[in-house]
Amino acid sequence: MTNRTPCSFDEPLEKSYEYHSGALEFLKEFEVPPNPVNYAIAYEYTAMRNGALNDEIDVHLSRTGGVDAYILADLFERYFLRDQAEEIDGYITNMHEIFTTALEGVTGASEGVSEFGKVLEAQRGKLDDNPSIEGIQSIVTTLVDATEQAHANNQQLQSHLEETEKETTSMREELEKLRVEAVTDGLTGLFNRKELNNRLDQLLEKDYEETMPLSVLMMDIDHFKKINDNYGHQIGDEVIRRVAKAVQEHIEGDSFAARYGGEEFTLVMPETDINRAVEIATSINEAVKKLVLVRRTTKERLPPVSISVGAVSVKSGEDQEQLLGRADQALYHAKNNGRDQVVSDLEFSIRR
Ligand code: GH3
Ligand code: MG
Ligand code: MG
Repeated sequence: MTNRTPCSFDEPLEKSYEYHSGALEFLKEFEVPPNPVNYAIAYEYTAMRNGALNDEIDVHLSRTGGVDAYILADLFERYFLRDQAEEIDGYITNMHEIFTTALEGVTGASEGVSEFGKVLEAQRGKLDDNPSIEGIQSIVTTLVDATEQAHANNQQLQSHLEETEKETTSMREELEKLRVEAVTDGLTGLFNRKELNNRLDQLLEKDYEETMPLSVLMMDIDHFKKINDNYGHQIGDEVIRRVAKAVQEHIEGDSFAARYGGEEFTLVMPETDINRAVEIATSINEAVKKLVLVRRTTKERLPPVSISVGAVSVKSGEDQEQLLGRADQALYHAKNNGRDQVVSDLEFSIRR
């Protein structure tokens, strides 16, 4: 399980200084500013307390040779910030309160009803004693009072229930929003990486025959750093959004797309063989190249954008890591072969 606190209370002071120096060196090496977010990750990495975090950084370093503020911010959010368990705890406490109040209302009302029953019974008993006019008058008065009281109790219950209904409805809506947020990437609206992992795991756990053939595309925008450098990060973000939309528009059947990280996307396609997967990948790249990107302030048109794609089909008994690893490898080949192309696992043949 992820350690959500970037500190350890029983860490000797000397060790902390050691990690502190290591963290600063790490940030200097990759020219990342030592702001609290970057520093927290660098410190954690140096302290090597979180195996998954260290593995992820090592894989990234071996692939790209460096880290930047984007990847560190993404790691910070995933490893330290997003603690939905706490939010869900809050909801459970809220629900306890709602149930308790509703139950109090119902119990109060039913006590009122049984009280009313007792009054009725007692007054009926009095009728059997041949009451005088005054006696009957008193019985009637008691009945009117008791009926009014029962009616008031009922109204109280009614408004109690209406209130409860309102609260539960708004909670249901909030929970739904929370559920969607938890699986969605904020910038693009695609699934986030965690949801990709969950869904892909579920698919791979199914009977091999059932999911077959299942193909995966791993896509990465070409020379994206240049876009950031030449036009700024806001435009970079807009390009990511537009490419994500092009990917999204190629979803068919049970396929789903996720933002794997920075400017990388994954498309998972059940019941799709490798030939169809390559067709779709090629079509996505064509759509990306046709995107018209205009800088709003100067009306300047950005040069066309392309993507490189690795396309693979799952092999029998393969797990998620192996499958995505092969997709990544195919993508790596596409990059090395000159970018702007799809490389599939059919002997890593090149297709333009
Ligand atoms: P390549 O063709 O080899 O993929 O070259 P590249 O320049 O695209 O290289 P790489 O994929 O390694 O670089 C991706 C860059 O994307 C690194 C980071 O600065 C930037 N980046 C990552 N996330 C975001 C983001 O959310 N917004 C913006 N604007 N830039 C991001
Ligand atoms: Mg990349
Ligand atoms: Mg790239």
